[in-house]
Amino acid sequence: MTADEVLELFRFVPPRETLAGFLRETDPLVIEAVREAAETTLLKYCGSKVYYRGLIEFSNICTLDCGYCGIRKSNTLVRRYTVSPEAVIQAAKWCAEAHYGSLVLQSGERRDEEFVSMVETLVRRIKSETVSSVLPRGLGITLCVGEQSLETFRRFREAGAHRYLLRIETTNPGLFRTIHPKEQSLDSRLLCLDYLRQAGFQVGTGVMIGLPGQTPEMLADDLLFYREHGFDMFGMGPFIPHKDTPMGSSPVMPCGERTRMGLMMIALARLLTKNTNIAATTALQALDPVGREKGLSFGANVLMPQLTPLEFRENYLLYENKPCVDEEKEDCLNCLRRRVEMVGREVALDEWGDSLHFSAGSGQP
Ligand code: SAM
Repeated sequence: MTADEVLELFRFVPPRETLAGFLRETDPLVIEAVREAAETTLLKYCGSKVYYRGLIEFSNICTLDCGYCGIRKSNTLVRRYTVSPEAVIQAAKWCAEAHYGSLVLQSGERRDEEFVSMVETLVRRIKSETVSSVLPRGLGITLCVGEQSLETFRRFREAGAHRYLLRIETTNPGLFRTIHPKEQSLDSRLLCLDYLRQAGFQVGTGVMIGLPGQTPEMLADDLLFYREHGFDMFGMGPFIPHKDTPMGSSPVMPCGERTRMGLMMIALARLLTKNTNIAATTALQALDPVGREKGLSFGANVLMPQLTPLEFRENYLLYENKPCVDEEKEDCLNCLRRRVEMVGREVALDEWGDSLHFSAGSGQP
C-alpha cells in the first residue's frame, strides 16, 4: 500500500474494520505509508508549524479515584501540593517571555468554590499580566481541570481561557466502567464535552492507548467518535501503569507495541479530522526516547513543554518513568527546539496556534 492509496481511502470515513486493521498493522511498509499520508494531510491543512503550550501542573489534589492515575485520591503515598498563585504567574510570564504563546493549566479534579475561583483568578491574572507587544491579548490559555458544571465552564471562559482539554479516556462503556469507580460515568463526561462547546471553548479530548482489555476495534470506535463529534483538538497517549494504583500490575502490551499503536492513533486521527490540533504527548516519550518526535512525524502539531516548578514535578507522576521530571525549563526549551528541527518542522513563536478546525467552524477564538 502506498501513501497515495491511504489518502484515497481517507477521502471518505473508512469503516471501523479498516481502522482496526491499521491499528493491528505491523508491516513497516504499510506503517510508513500511513505516516506519510498523515504528514501530507497535516502539511496541507495545518502547515509545518509546531505550537508550544507550556504545561503548568498547578495542583495534584484530586477528589477522583481513577484506577490508572498516580494522583488518584486514594494514593496516600503522594505528597499533595498546590503551587502558589505567585509561582504560577511567574511560570506564565516565563512562558510568554520564552515566546511559547500559550500555556496549559492542569490539575487534579476539584469542584469546590475555592478551587473554581482560584482557577478563575489565575486565568484573569495570566491574561492581563502577559500582555506585550508580541502577545497583545496575552498568552492563550488551555484548561485541563476535569469535569465541571456548565456555570463553572462559563466562568472559566469569561475569565479568558479559550481552550479546554477533557479526555474521554475510552468511549467503550464497559471498559470505561472497569477503569473508573462507579461514581464516574461516560455519560457525565459526554455531557461535560457538550457543556464546553456551549460555553464557547475550543474543545479537546483523547483516549489512553493500550489499556488492559482494550481492542483495536474499541480504538477504531474512539477515532470515529472524534470525527463524529467534531472536536478541535486531541491529546492521547499510551497507558503507562503506576505501581501505586489498582491498575499498577495489570498486564499491558509491550512498550514497542503501545508506542506503535499510539503513533498509529495520531496518524489516523489526523487523516480523519484533517485541520485539528493534535499533541505529541509526554507519555509517548516515556515509552520511547524519541516518541514525541515520532508523534510529530505521524501528524501531531502541538508539544507541551514542562513549566511546573521543579520542586513539585516529582509529585505529579500520573505514571512511572515520566520524562523531564528533573530538567530545568530552559533546558527543556532548547531540547525541544532541537527535537522539532530534527523532524524538519519549525517552532511557532508568540502564536496561540488555535485549532483551524475551530476557526473554520463554530466561532471565534
Ligand atoms: N483531572 C483532569 C482530567 O481528568 O481531565 C486533568 C488531569 S488528568 C491526570 C490528565 C490525564 O492524564 C488523564 O486524562 C489521563 O488520560 C492521563 N493519565 C492519567 N494516568 C495515566 C496513566 N497511568 N497512563 C497514561 N495516561 C494517564
